[in-house]
Amino acid sequence: MAKIPGWLRSPHSLPLLLGLVVALPAIALVVLGVRLLEQDRALAVQRRGEMAQSAADRVVRALEHEVNSVARQLADPAWMAERPAPGTVRVLISNAGLQVEPPSALAWYPSASHLPEPPAAVFAEAEAAEFQSVDLEMALRLNRGLAVRPDVAIHSGALLRQARVLRKMNRKDEAEAVFAQLGGTNNIAIDGVPVDLIARQAQCALALASGRAGALRGAALALQTDLNAGRWRLDRPTYEFVAERLSRWLGPDARRDIDREAMAAAVEWFALRSGRRRAGDDAPQTATAETRAPTGCRSVQTGSGMAVVIWAGTPDRVAAIVALERFVVREWRPAAERAARPATVVLSAAGDARPASAASGTGVVAGTRPASETGLPWTIVTDVPVHLDLGPLAARERLLLVGLAAVLILVATGGFLVFRWRRQEIALARLQSDFVAAVSHEFRTPLTALSQFNELLEDGDELPAAKRRAYHQAQARATVRLRRLVESVLDFGRMQAGRHPYAFQPVDAGKLVSGVVDQFRAEIDGRGFVVRCEIDAGDHTIAADAEALDRAVWNLLDNAVKYSRDRREVEVTVCAATPARPGSRPEVAVAVRDFGIGIPRLEQARLFQKFVRGAGATAAGIKGTGIGLAMAQHIVAAHGGRILVESEPNVGSTFTIVIERSLS
Ligand code: ADP
Repeated sequence: MAKIPGWLRSPHSLPLLLGLVVALPAIALVVLGVRLLEQDRALAVQRRGEMAQSAADRVVRALEHEVNSVARQLADPAWMAERPAPGTVRVLISNAGLQVEPPSALAWYPSASHLPEPPAAVFAEAEAAEFQSVDLEMALRLNRGLAVRPDVAIHSGALLRQARVLRKMNRKDEAEAVFAQLGGTNNIAIDGVPVDLIARQAQCALALASGRAGALRGAALALQTDLNAGRWRLDRPTYEFVAERLSRWLGPDARRDIDREAMAAAVEWFALRSGRRRAGDDAPQTATAETRAPTGCRSVQTGSGMAVVIWAGTPDRVAAIVALERFVVREWRPAAERAARPATVVLSAAGDARPASAASGTGVVAGTRPASETGLPWTIVTDVPVHLDLGPLAARERLLLVGLAAVLILVATGGFLVFRWRRQEIALARLQSDFVAAVSHEFRTPLTALSQFNELLEDGDELPAAKRRAYHQAQARATVRLRRLVESVLDFGRMQAGRHPYAFQPVDAGKLVSGVVDQFRAEIDGRGFVVRCEIDAGDHTIAADAEALDRAVWNLLDNAVKYSRDRREVEVTVCAATPARPGSRPEVAVAVRDFGIGIPRLEQARLFQKFVRGAGATAAGIKGTGIGLAMAQHIVAAHGGRILVESEPNVGSTFTIVIERSLS
């Protein structure tokens, strides 16, 4: 037969075994649960990926619908006459050139307007006087002569030069007046720049040069208002130049109209694209193919965001709508969001590489449809929120989590119970070993006394009779004590095993107690204790095992003496007790009171357990076995009674045995 290993046979290995029996299946269950959870998570990720993909397809369809319906409108020639929606402009590129509705919606145009310009030759003589011979008087006279010509272009050109010469001559007020005169002329240009725009900038420059801050601010603000209202059809370099000058003159008050600039950038892109197609800059075949079907859409990244261009038409006439991001957000994104539900959607500029990661901050596979694939102006990215309830999957996960939690709680509780059991065992083992040590000590004292008196009596034949008697009495006391001890330990063993025989007979509790007190007085004779005993008159008959009850009272007396300090008094009383419940049988109370070290309230109940000793007792170095009170309680309980304790540290204690009186 296989041998059981030694460590398994040891009583201490039982909790260990039990722990293993509980913990192993629990660990296996937890591991299984975690694996299941992982699988579920992976499944959920897959489900979410699929949901994101189908949401992306739905968004593509919804946006295609929107874009196509716009493209259809574009093909209608009457469309250009309608008022464009806010955030959009309409663009028409035909043989007549570029037409924009509303015209003021662009900060600049791909090409400036062609305003009439005066012929440069007319001013040759005046300019020679101004720049070559530097005869400013002459130049002024010549320009004044030209200014009276009826031709508006020559008139305006002459005035501009006149003002310039006056400024050089430092006749600022006159120069200012001439510039002001030019401020209302917006249909003539010099070198492609409207005359009034030149004049108004010159006015600002004059105000700055002459240190008139208020005048500069007023003129610059007015110029800015007109620039942003689209008074002039400028090309990009001119617009940038004026805007840059304004920002220098106005500082924090300078305002650039971001929407008009975005619109201008998008229209510029579109005009360039259409121009190239028509000019056939691309490979001729594709250019022709595309020119025949010039329909499409694109998002254009502008300085401030994204604009969308949708165009349709014929090779001769291409109509387009340019929409700013806010229009997209207002008109098209809701349709995309509705189609994406329950997923979320992000529309980003076609060439934007950022969306996939930016949109799905969750790190989960998102549904991505690049513009190059769909032909739409956006790259579409959909994502399914992590917290989205995936129906049965989520329910299963919840169930699993609850199950796992339950298993963990079970294991923790089991572990705790095993731990507590183990701790109690260790504590009991320690108490037992303390008990053995204490009992040995208790035995040693009377044995030592006996052997000493034996020696004295053996050696001393000539001892006086009185001494000899005293020694014999001491020997007798030690023997009684030894006997008590042995009986006490044996009785305790029997009580623990439930084998202590009790023989109940009617006993007068008063007599029994006074007998015990007398014996006890003899026992402690010479130690300076006063043991008072008061027995009330009346019937104190109880059904008792006299010997056992004798031991219980003795133990209480023994403790009273052991735990007394300087005040060596013990009071014993026997009286009728007030019954615990009204109507119950009368009771007899035997109380033993001392004035010793007392017991803290928290310790009081525990001291009736076997081997348990109070902290005060051990701290004071008072020897004991820890079984006295346990025995007393056992005995009293066998009599159907109870022991009460009232005690206060450093004041004293009263232990009271209460037993029902026998009915005579
Ligand atoms: P032992 O006295 O041998 O230690 P007991 O079971 O008789 O064991 O008493 C248990 C503990 O109760 C004692 O160790 C002591 O701390 C406390 N105790 C009992 N009686 C008294 C008393 N009269 N005064 C103070 N403490 C007491």
